[in-house]
Amino acid sequence: MSAVPVIEARGVRKRFDDHDVLRGLDLAVAPHEVVVLIGASGSGKSTLLKTMNLIERVDDGQIFLQGDDITDPRVDADSVRARIGVVFQHFNLFPHMTVLDNVTLAARKVHGMPKGEARTRGRELLESLGLGDKADEYPDRLSGGQQQRVAIVRAILTEPEVLLLDEITSALDPQLVGEVLDLVRELKRRGSTIVMATHEMSFAREVADRVVFLKEGVLVEQGPPEQIFDAPQHPATAEFLARVR
Ligand code: ADP
Ligand code: MG
Repeated sequence: MSAVPVIEARGVRKRFDDHDVLRGLDLAVAPHEVVVLIGASGSGKSTLLKTMNLIERVDDGQIFLQGDDITDPRVDADSVRARIGVVFQHFNLFPHMTVLDNVTLAARKVHGMPKGEARTRGRELLESLGLGDKADEYPDRLSGGQQQRVAIVRAILTEPEVLLLDEITSALDPQLVGEVLDLVRELKRRGSTIVMATHEMSFAREVADRVVFLKEGVLVEQGPPEQIFDAPQHPATAEFLARVR
């Protein structure tokens, strides 16, 4: 990889009690790359994403964001998080705030963006991603898929350096999954750098530049989707795929 990775895990270890959840994980994500994490439930996908966002602290190893060691204890976690967009399975929009207020809150409070500018950008972004007519609605008036799309808009309003997406379609009814995946496709087209954990294997195949298979906290195999899905090199990868397909 020639460019400095946008985000890089080096030798990352994480243990909960006596359970080694990440066992020395290395992963470097290039600018504009879409990396999709796959693996059985409990394999450490969410924990890896959480260490990248400093929600969980690594026990050993380091995480670099554009070359900065963000796991250095002297680093301010909030200023790191301000550079990273995160969307989880459950959207957690504030029910008492309109879509536009939800989308602009962090930009104003965390980034100090002036209210007028945040609202203008928020409306423009919602508009360009097909949610313009929802700006003044309250979240409970939106479908689950629309709410999750709003959560994604909220995450990208401040143009984060990397977007971490954790099972963003798992809580949705099947007929609502497509519109959320379409939005991720659009972000890829616009050049976002994305690390995403998903159970949607067909989507992983379609959108990933690189698929990473985790098993019990170890990176077992990684490669382009055609390799991972059509010609896995490692028996554990083949076994996992046989179970989920
Ligand atoms: P995945 O996202 O691949 O399903 P996770 O990263 O959520 O896997 O979990 C990996 C393992 O770590 C699981 O066995 C889970 O129970 C455990 N784990 C995750 N978070 C915690 C925590 N806060 N405390 C204790 N165990 C945890
Ligand atoms: Mg998970």
